Amino acid sequence: MSRAAAIIPAAGAGARLGFSTPKTFIDLGGAPMLARTIATVASSRRIAVVQPVLPRSHLSLFRSRILSRHRWENCLSPVAGGRERQHSVAAGLRALPEDVDFVVIHDGARPFVTRALVERVLLEARRHGAAIAAIPVQDTVKRVRPDLFLDGTLDRRALWLAQTPQAFQIGLLREAHARASAAGLDATDDAALVEALGHRVRVVPGSVLNFKITTREDLALARALAAFQRPRPTRP
Ligand code: C5P
Repeated sequence: MSRAAAIIPAAGAGARLGFSTPKTFIDLGGAPMLARTIATVASSRRIAVVQPVLPRSHLSLFRSRILSRHRWENCLSPVAGGRERQHSVAAGLRALPEDVDFVVIHDGARPFVTRALVERVLLEARRHGAAIAAIPVQDTVKRVRPDLFLDGTLDRRALWLAQTPQAFQIGLLREAHARASAAGLDATDDAALVEALGHRVRVVPGSVLNFKITTREDLALARALAAFQRPRPTRP
């Protein structure tokens, strides 16, 4: 039987936002950003279990303020993440049940993901072993020197921006993490670790709305979008 799991890395401090709260616990339209992300991923019938990975300091707050208020039957108890995102994903991988065959990794800080994108990436991973959401670069891309003078223009036709969800056959991702840890390889996404094994990774067109909240400007945009998307009360 096929059983897919989702890991939600949400253990980052979010230092670039300048809040003391971890960024995935910041309010977005009346609920923590993380609640919105998990609600979408957990709503897919193709995802058997969802494993949140959080800062150790926020495990019990997540249980009392988020988990207890939702009926996510497939959401597992959260586990503590590590210093880098890669360590947090590895902690999520260690916590998964044994009978999982595919795993979807999705950043807690990308709350506008859709169920359709999660399912599309998972479907392509089932076909090819590994798949990620990405969007083609629309702007002209420059290489810039530390002294802020240009150092060249890249051919944008072959350039895409990687997003999550990213999905993998579980044995492949476990092997990729084990090799990376043995080799001291650090990467900012899981696909890079699978690429390092020499495995092909399929791209699925993502969405500009599936942006990662990193800066204050991102948060302002996210709040505006959340307000816009909130269901309007029906007229009497
Ligand atoms: O830092 P960045 O915004 O790229 O992080 C992407 C995702 O990885 C976020 O959801 C963040 O909470 C998570 N993360 C993590 N553990 C870390 C660092 C980041 O789970 N040590």
